[in-house]
Amino acid sequence: MQSAPTLPSRARVVVIGGGVIGTSVAYHLAHMGWRDVVLLERDRITSGTTWHAAGLMVTFGSSSETSTEMRKYTRDLYARLEAETGQATGLRQIGFIECAADKDRLEEYRRVSAFNRLCGVDVHELSPRQVHELFPLARTDDILAGFYVAEDGRVDPVDVTMALAKGAKLQGAAVLEGVAALRVLTRGGAVVGVRTNIGDIECEYVVNCAGMWARQLGAQNGVTIPLQAAEHYYLITEKIAGVHRDLPVIEDPASHAYIREEGGGLLIGLFEPVCAPWKVEGIPEGFSFGEIAPDWDRMGPYLERAMARVPVALEAGVKKFFCGPESFTPDLRPCVGEAPELRGYFVAAGLNSIGILTGGGLGRVLAHWIIHGRPDVDVTGMHIDRLHPYQCTPEYRRLRTVESLGMVFQCHYPTRSMTTARGAKRSAFHDRLAARGAYFRDVSGWEGADWYAPAGEAPDPGPLSWGRQRWFPWWADEHRACREGVIAMDMSFMAKFMVQGRDAGRLLNYLSANDVDGEAGLITYTQWLNEGGTLEADLTVTKLADERYWVVASDTAHRHAETWMRRHFAGAHAFVTDVTSGYAQLNIQGPRARELMQALTAEDMSNAAFPFRAAREIDLGLARVLCVRITYLGELGYELYIPTEQATHVYDRVVEIGARFGLRHAGLKALASLRMEKGYRDYGHDIDNTDSPLEAGLGFAVDLKKPGGFLGKDAVLAFKARGPLRRRLVQVLLQDPAPLMFHAEVVWRDGQRVGYVRAASYGHTLGGAVGLAMVEAPCPIDQAWLDAGRWEVEIADRRVPAIASLRPLYDPTMSRIKA
Ligand SMILES: Cc1cc2nc3c(=O)[nH]c(=O)nc-3n(C[C@H](O)[C@H](O)[C@H](O)COP(=O)(O)OP(=O)(O)OC[C@H]3O[C@@H](n4cnc5c(N)ncnc54)[C@H](O)[C@@H]3O)c2cc1C
Repeated sequence: MQSAPTLPSRARVVVIGGGVIGTSVAYHLAHMGWRDVVLLERDRITSGTTWHAAGLMVTFGSSSETSTEMRKYTRDLYARLEAETGQATGLRQIGFIECAADKDRLEEYRRVSAFNRLCGVDVHELSPRQVHELFPLARTDDILAGFYVAEDGRVDPVDVTMALAKGAKLQGAAVLEGVAALRVLTRGGAVVGVRTNIGDIECEYVVNCAGMWARQLGAQNGVTIPLQAAEHYYLITEKIAGVHRDLPVIEDPASHAYIREEGGGLLIGLFEPVCAPWKVEGIPEGFSFGEIAPDWDRMGPYLERAMARVPVALEAGVKKFFCGPESFTPDLRPCVGEAPELRGYFVAAGLNSIGILTGGGLGRVLAHWIIHGRPDVDVTGMHIDRLHPYQCTPEYRRLRTVESLGMVFQCHYPTRSMTTARGAKRSAFHDRLAARGAYFRDVSGWEGADWYAPAGEAPDPGPLSWGRQRWFPWWADEHRACREGVIAMDMSFMAKFMVQGRDAGRLLNYLSANDVDGEAGLITYTQWLNEGGTLEADLTVTKLADERYWVVASDTAHRHAETWMRRHFAGAHAFVTDVTSGYAQLNIQGPRARELMQALTAEDMSNAAFPFRAAREIDLGLARVLCVRITYLGELGYELYIPTEQATHVYDRVVEIGARFGLRHAGLKALASLRMEKGYRDYGHDIDNTDSPLEAGLGFAVDLKKPGGFLGKDAVLAFKARGPLRRRLVQVLLQDPAPLMFHAEVVWRDGQRVGYVRAASYGHTLGGAVGLAMVEAPCPIDQAWLDAGRWEVEIADRRVPAIASLRPLYDPTMSRIKA
């Protein structure tokens, strides 16, 4: 009989949950020198979701650098764990093949494989015949290609987790089974301990790795973890002649299937396009080593299609049809990092069915984050603070989770927007924009007008594609209208904060790399940096008056910016109010914007009286609005912040008077193309937490001379002292007007890979796809070096000539903005 575990009275870190993620976090904390770690597992190690995972270990397929690095690290770790711990992991590098069964998937995998190769994944495109040679039982006459990684394969998820737990213990961590965390204890907004079924333990940090229980555990402390379990299936056949242990893993997303050997038969796993959330009302506490009764009726048609990829499977007997729950998140990215609600409360959960194959890397990232106070990889896509409380509602989880599991195997068209759980947030203008033909997409839960169908056309995007969709010319017209006339754009989804108090100016200026505390009535573009001198936020601060500031950040940075302020303002006379819902934001942009504004208000809008960067309250009809002369589109323009209850009044007036000036509506596709031509950055898309402002080309917004300095200044100075930059964000423009860029396209200089496109759009004025790429070189990167090279961008299976520039390719002198 096992003796009852003894709970220490304190530990530096308590990890809750003994699945692959919790054990990996404990392992890495201990390995990095924090041995005072206690892992609590309510039942037995692996008893949640981990025990029944299929164990695919795949490095191919992600267009995220962070995810790809985590996968590679995970595979390397699993390969060395046995030697370190004596516990086998079951890693078998038998190879992995991704099948492309249609032309759009072929395009996707060609794009992704180029990016994965840049990241060090050795992936090769195979003909259908070569796929057949590697997996003779698979039907290959209807596929176009396979993408093969010889070093990938499979692991045994239980053995991996046992090895991680053993490795953690060998380094001094305590792993306690049969101990449930009942409640996280807090004081003054920070974690101080954990209450368990056998007593309390004090700690500085908690890491919630409770898998599908993580949401409920977090909710006890008001921590937002909007994950939801869904049914997840695989089938195991009886033995099949010709199936052997060295067959590679094969995956065919078009048939919803992944397939590998199991006990001489086949394991066929499914990601069906319409899936079923499980226990929306709450995950039962005692669900250990649990199974869900399979829904044969619902799954039958998908199964048939999946099995048809290896036709002998249809004739083999079914040994087991297994259904187990796995956690899915609203955007298929995990919930990772320190919760905005509580200091010291970290989360690593919501693995969207890739917890085994990313678990090693995720544990490393999180351990580094806790120990060093910030992560060493780009976490903007997976940071828990991108998520919002409304996403925890049962209705949201029930609706969204129907779509999320299936998304894993959909073709990842770059313009795809989730279609479930929509309509959660609507701007005040929504119905009016809909009446004008707006096509809406999900923008952090807001219905964002993406583009407008012209009169007589339905706002229907038509079939998704990697090429030009039916709305391409309408988008081009909106873009042109902004460059040549005047447009209105709804950007109410921007995060807006009123910051007030005696210390507000001093502290905002300390957080900002630029000087934001000059004269009142001025907007300043700035970055916020951490102590390491890399980017935390990219936003504007407007000084409305002494002790009163207006801070505007992008929708994705909403909670991050707010948390950053609150944590740095603690104890001071500086108060943050989130006024996002209180103000609509309407942009009036384009060379005729001043004429229109002048027709709308009695305020003197002349260049002399209302210059670039001026911010003032103006009268507009029956409303008083904050008008800021600024642009994110590269033209003369104004942002209007309107009290929500007056928003439609102002909008109607703008549209009525705007007709005289040819006012057009423009959507977020136009926002993307206009800002990209001008090289304006977007945090979380083309710049992230690993970049210094100098590498990001934002040195112009860093004021090294301002009195009092700023957070991160020493690191910026140290960075500068290291000499000329060898890593820089550059603008790239394709010389062929046809191909499109989206994200993760590999950039070549003189036949060498030098980086990849972080974000891209189409430059309707520049005449080709345009993007921002992070480029690295062994020598200093300056314009002369850019000019001396022959540039190409790899798009699917070809390299397209390009030009590269440090200065914005559109209006580098800002003459249009300051006109
Ligand atoms: C059918 C299926 C096939 C899959 N195949 C693969 C695959 O091939 N490759 C892959 O990478 N991934 C796969 N996955 C996904 C993978 O299994 C998960 O992503 C991973 O196991 C999640 O690990 P976790 O540690 O987050 O959660 P879990 O394994 O669920 O661990 C959480 C642990 O927390 C414990 N716990 C909960 N609450 C408390 C508390 N209050 N106190 C103490 N302990 C608590 C639970 O008992 C549990 O052991 C698959 C999943 C399914 C369902």
